[in-house]
Amino acid sequence: MVLARTVHTLDATTDATTAGATAVAVADGLITAVGTAADARRWRGPGTELIDLGDAVLVPGLVDGHSHPALGLELTTGTDLSAVRDLDGLRAALASAERLDGWVLAWNLDHNAFGDRPVHRSAVEDVLGPDTPAFIRLYDGHSALATGPALRAAGVTGPRTFAQRATVVCDPDGTPTGHLIEHAAMDLVTAVMPSLPLDQRRDALHALLLRMAGGGLAGAHVMDAGGDILDLVRAIEDTRHLPLRLRIAPWCMPGTDADGLRELAALQAESGRNWLVGGVKLFVDGTVEGGSAWLEHPDCHGEGTAALWLDPAEYTDVVRQLDAYGVRTATHAIGDAGVRHVLDTVAALPGRGRGRHRIEHIETLGDEQARRFAELGVPASMQPTHSAYTRADHTDAWSTRLGTERADRAWICRTLRDTGATLALGSDWPIAHHDPRGVLAYARLRRHAGTDTTPVNPLQALTPLMALEGYTTHAARAAGESDRTGRIAPGLRADLTAFALDPLTADPDAFAGTAVPLTMSNGVVTNRGGS
Ligand SMILES: [Zn+2]
Repeated sequence: MVLARTVHTLDATTDATTAGATAVAVADGLITAVGTAADARRWRGPGTELIDLGDAVLVPGLVDGHSHPALGLELTTGTDLSAVRDLDGLRAALASAERLDGWVLAWNLDHNAFGDRPVHRSAVEDVLGPDTPAFIRLYDGHSALATGPALRAAGVTGPRTFAQRATVVCDPDGTPTGHLIEHAAMDLVTAVMPSLPLDQRRDALHALLLRMAGGGLAGAHVMDAGGDILDLVRAIEDTRHLPLRLRIAPWCMPGTDADGLRELAALQAESGRNWLVGGVKLFVDGTVEGGSAWLEHPDCHGEGTAALWLDPAEYTDVVRQLDAYGVRTATHAIGDAGVRHVLDTVAALPGRGRGRHRIEHIETLGDEQARRFAELGVPASMQPTHSAYTRADHTDAWSTRLGTERADRAWICRTLRDTGATLALGSDWPIAHHDPRGVLAYARLRRHAGTDTTPVNPLQALTPLMALEGYTTHAARAAGESDRTGRIAPGLRADLTAFALDPLTADPDAFAGTAVPLTMSNGVVTNRGGS
């Protein structure tokens, strides 16, 4: 049983009876009652465990709508380059970087570090030495820079063709520059890269999930089944409680045939105590900075006019077949043409897909397409802190690619909510920090809490309630789980988060640093008092 100063149930059906609620009873992983401290005295039996949170505020357990915990650990192996601002900084960081089996692995590099210069291995090779393979991931997760020895280890000596849009960028003479765009190109090198043994990765995943629980996360929609995550969560549950309830969506990449689709459908039955395979993740495009977002009009470098699928009609056909299997989909769509294509695809499904198909990211979009989310019942899933990679004055790589008009339509969270769409919020960790307090604050401020950065597209700021709903009721709706979680009501899963400051009334700059006295996932306490 949990007592708090205030319980925000976010439950429209019981709000009348639970207005002023300060107590929640839990048994066998479920919420059994919601009421006052006086009610709680009646609920109490001899074996009842009481958690008195004092002045804290209890809300439904927060769910990150887009996260990559296991793949993220793989993507974040090596040196963190997030503090690098320019080429000198990059060279200095690489010169002193740790080696793993002789390789330098690094991640989180901002494209802006290259300034006006192309992303090219010649900018860093001399500081690494002639025999050191290096693989440096750009922050967007969709491109990387490999040095000569890394390319040689992978046997990459020139341009390649792929079943999906992906590029081994080459100089005019056909020599690879080291810039690898999209997963199929990066996979050439990641396939030969060193990685840590399974038990170490299992423990690293468990530790990461505990840190996430410490920030208030009770669950996450995992947008990949990479990094051996199914093996890792099974291994964790052999001996421990999985700290977050994970809803895992494996990828369906271009070229997946009928057998592949059948396997993805069969995989949907897999589950454990606190995880399940739920849905499939697809990509319809790449990223703005990489020139691979699918835009209605070319970007300022003349790129960005193509889908990730060589024939977008194949994407539509695959979604139609998955829908026929009853499989939910989540499609990465960043450019306005990509979003339109997914919406067109859903509009043509029987029953418009019954709310089972959602769109991830949506970085630049006009009002006309924005309205269709609510009309078609397509949940939007967005990561407000991604806009921190842009600048309000449009001098960053993302904005200069798009030009002023499209950069002004950056991350239109508020427009989507105001037109009635479901809007799940998340971090896309490791692309941005997983802490939900920071994302909730950012969604309201359109800048990082505790900074004086000029807000990006501030008219798109969410209200405190809209932001909290993005991690609770709307996250549940986006996954088709509203009857099981997302609110505090009897019969729902016991997913609970408590904050010292009230997320609905606290100043957002202060809220980002508030204490998290309790996180409960599926009835199990996963964080007590923490950060
Ligand atoms: Zn993602």
